[in-house]
Amino acid sequence: MRDAGDEPRLPDPSVEREVHGLRAVIDRDLCVGFGDCIEEAPEAFDLDEDGVAVFTGPEHASRRRFVEACASCPVDAITVLEDGIEIVP
Ligand code: SF4
Repeated sequence: MRDAGDEPRLPDPSVEREVHGLRAVIDRDLCVGFGDCIEEAPEAFDLDEDGVAVFTGPEHASRRRFVEACASCPVDAITVLEDGIEIVP
């Protein structure tokens, strides 16, 4: 019998997404809940009950606006990779 700890960790879609051919990750330890990303793309992000950003519907924002919203984070809490190369921050 395997321990639960042996199970492969599934990415949490609230903080890790494949969207518009990009891989985007929110670092919940860095996010301070300023909400700049939500202002830029309200359909893509929201704050959860802890006041920390999560992805909601990033596929509903255009790729350009989504990337701009990720880049607007003042504490660089959102990382975006394209083909394994970091394009944000
Ligand atoms: S802009 Fe950055 S710090 Fe502000 S809510 Fe979004 S991820 Fe968090």
